[in-house]
Amino acid sequence: MAKLVVNDNCVGCGACAASYPDTFAIDDEGRSTVINNEETEAETLNEMASICPFGAIEVKNETSND
Ligand code: SF4
Repeated sequence: MAKLVVNDNCVGCGACAASYPDTFAIDDEGRSTVINNEETEAETLNEMASICPFGAIEVKNETSND
């Protein structure tokens, strides 16, 4: 399983939330947060991650004990 993670590079530009409002939202601190990690298709996850111009969205592979 893979999931999306927003790292400290996020500057809160909102590009991810604008493009994928069902997946990302800007939190109270002005940073993006993943609100839905149901998407598991690698190609789609990579596409979502590539929307960030700051490299703040990562696709992490989860192991079963996570
Ligand atoms: S596109 Fe990147 S920098 Fe902009 S809000 Fe989303 S994660 Fe943060």
